[in-house]
Amino acid sequence: MHLTNADLHSHSNVSDGTLLPEEIAARAHANGVELWSLTDHDEVGGQRRARDAALALGMAYLTGTEVSVTFANETVHIIGLGFDADDAALNAGLAATRSGRLDRAHRMADGLALAGIQGAFEGALKYVTNPDLISRTHFGRFLVETGVCGDTYEVFRRYLTEGKPGYVPHRWAGLGDAVRWITGAGGIAVVAHPARYRFTPTEEYALFTEFIAHGGRGVEVVTGSHSAPEQIRYAETAAEFELLASRGSDFHSPAESRTDLGSLPDLPGRLTPVWQALQHRIQRPG
Ligand code: AMP
Ligand code: MN
Ligand code: MN
Ligand code: MN
Repeated sequence: MHLTNADLHSHSNVSDGTLLPEEIAARAHANGVELWSLTDHDEVGGQRRARDAALALGMAYLTGTEVSVTFANETVHIIGLGFDADDAALNAGLAATRSGRLDRAHRMADGLALAGIQGAFEGALKYVTNPDLISRTHFGRFLVETGVCGDTYEVFRRYLTEGKPGYVPHRWAGLGDAVRWITGAGGIAVVAHPARYRFTPTEEYALFTEFIAHGGRGVEVVTGSHSAPEQIRYAETAAEFELLASRGSDFHSPAESRTDLGSLPDLPGRLTPVWQALQHRIQRPG
């Protein structure tokens, strides 16, 4: 049986990826992706370009975004798929979520300066395409460029995670708000890369039960952020909570990303793919 090569998690330079939406579309298509979504952080500004590029290549498209949420004092990412990208409440919610990023970036640079790294704000800004969306990834690129660290993984470990000099605690959107912005715009909300969160079993249970109570319906099972055992574990979570399963590389950059577009294992056959519930929202080439 042929399973759809769906890649429903990727980033362009409209957030913290390095390629244009059109370049990601071309790379996804060249890698055999049949159904693609561009899911820039807290932003839908690249959606029209992504869709136009996908359809021109003969590739089906679902609108996407990855919303930053704070839950139990941890940052959780919620993917939205198949929504109306012009929806006013969704756009207002995402704008509010983006609004704290500039001030946070200044404070990150202040922390790095105290650790002896000067000029990090200006340095990170050189990598930013969308001035509304300065992220830790842009600081990471600056710290690699200047030779402070060998790669972005080392940057996060030494400088940009909790307790490290460039880390600034931040309150993102509420879980219920993010889910409602997505579902209110006709889309499906999906918990992104659940293995990445440092939750106790009780907190993780609370995340899924509250997410579902707010109307969330999916979980990423196969992602570039999950090891093989983690995929098995979250396949069980999807079955236990009767969630739709998603699959996405989380591709950011040819130089930085370990998992390329479209190159993931298939979803386990017993799960229902999230795109099955989004057939009416998929935009197909004419
Ligand atoms: P921000 O939204 O500004 O907090 O930045 C989060 C982004 O940083 C994520 O979407 C990833 O692209 C990147 N990131 C987070 N943790 C790591 C890590 N440990 N190694 C490399 N990149 C990371
Ligand atoms: Mn990112
Ligand atoms: Mn994420
Ligand atoms: Mn992502």
